[in-house]
Amino acid sequence: MKHLLTLFLFVSTLLSIAAQHISPSIICGNDVYSRIVREKHPELDAAIRATFEDAKRAGHKEVRERSPLTIQVVVHVVWNEAEENLSDEIIEDQIRILNEDYNRMNADTGDLREEFHYIAGNADIHFELAQVVRVQTQSLFEIDVIGDDLLSDLKSDATGGSSAWDPEHYLNIWVCKIQPTTIFGLEIGQILGFAFPPTGLSHWPDGSSAPTPGEDGVVVDFRAFSSINPNPIDNPADGTPLLLKGRTPVHEVGHYLGLRHIWGDGGLFGPNDCAQSDGVDDTPFASAQSEFDCNKSRNSCDLVELFFNEDPLDLVENYMDYSSEECMNMFTQGQVEIMRGVLTGPRAGLLNSVGTHQPATVLGCSLSPNPAQDRTLLRFNLPEAGDVHVQVTGADGRRVLDLPAQPCSSGLQQIAVDTRRLPAGMYLVHLQANGVKEVKKLIVHR
Ligand SMILES: [Zn+2]
Repeated sequence: MKHLLTLFLFVSTLLSIAAQHISPSIICGNDVYSRIVREKHPELDAAIRATFEDAKRAGHKEVRERSPLTIQVVVHVVWNEAEENLSDEIIEDQIRILNEDYNRMNADTGDLREEFHYIAGNADIHFELAQVVRVQTQSLFEIDVIGDDLLSDLKSDATGGSSAWDPEHYLNIWVCKIQPTTIFGLEIGQILGFAFPPTGLSHWPDGSSAPTPGEDGVVVDFRAFSSINPNPIDNPADGTPLLLKGRTPVHEVGHYLGLRHIWGDGGLFGPNDCAQSDGVDDTPFASAQSEFDCNKSRNSCDLVELFFNEDPLDLVENYMDYSSEECMNMFTQGQVEIMRGVLTGPRAGLLNSVGTHQPATVLGCSLSPNPAQDRTLLRFNLPEAGDVHVQVTGADGRRVLDLPAQPCSSGLQQIAVDTRRLPAGMYLVHLQANGVKEVKKLIVHR
């Protein structure tokens, strides 16, 4: 039975690859992920759909009392060749673009066709750069579409990548060179990025937690990061250079916050079907993606008129299409509600994270030695006496040490953290005192 199943998956993979090859040569890895989930983890697929519906309901409710939501971002630059080691300036430019696009402050909002103005939404979601982690590697990162491995190597210190900061509290974005996707050595396309949808609902079936928490986040090819990137990338379909404006990360963060492709993923791995929905109420029907074009008269679902008495054009300006990046300039209000519903629901931990800059001025905690082997000393300055609570979590967010709360007097303090029983790797040390929280990254080596 297993062999038959394997064969079926293999053949369906080949068919999927063939479908990719005919139409887009540059694809977003979420198509690969969605297929894997649909075929191999139907229970996970059901849970993701349930999460989506929960978020949608929460977003509807939340819209009346909207306030700004802020996410702390950790950018992992995992580089091999020097040009992959993107400068701080490029990384900051990408954070700027995320902030503009998620607050409808992008300069090209005026390019949106007038008939769609009334559905354009401002997500009021803000991004703060908590840390840039740079890792030089000898590893090459190719998505294995047959083996279904979505760059787990990239996300672990142990395999030439960079381990996630606590994914419950930080948006991890990995930037690396994503190798061209191949099948039996034959190049079939280039994935520019991918992200995982929200996970972690309590009703998830045991054993369905693929991907692991430590893999949660966004991956972007280094050439598709920011609008001032000097590294060109050609459209393999026609050899022309792609004009990228930092919208690949905007698109992928949309997936991370629960959005699906605007055409509902019909037409790529399934039938070219107008009825396949992205689950958003205000996005127009579309049967297929826009193939890096900006055709504002495109209407891929004109048959809808027969049933719904309307004939909306495709919303090619939407960040969740595959239109060209200079074409994209908006989310809809329905998409905004879903993303905010996700951020106040399954990804609410992101809103409680501790950035590196904000709390450092309060307790000023430090770890020494760091990297540590057997123990490290956590030093901090307590403005007034109070109970101090220290926890250590792994890169996957799991708690590995929990020291009992202890009373401390004001002034300079230190607490020893025994690291002898921790395997080598990256950890986060959480210090909580007088209602203030701070987090420090700790490396344990053996
Ligand atoms: Zn996508």
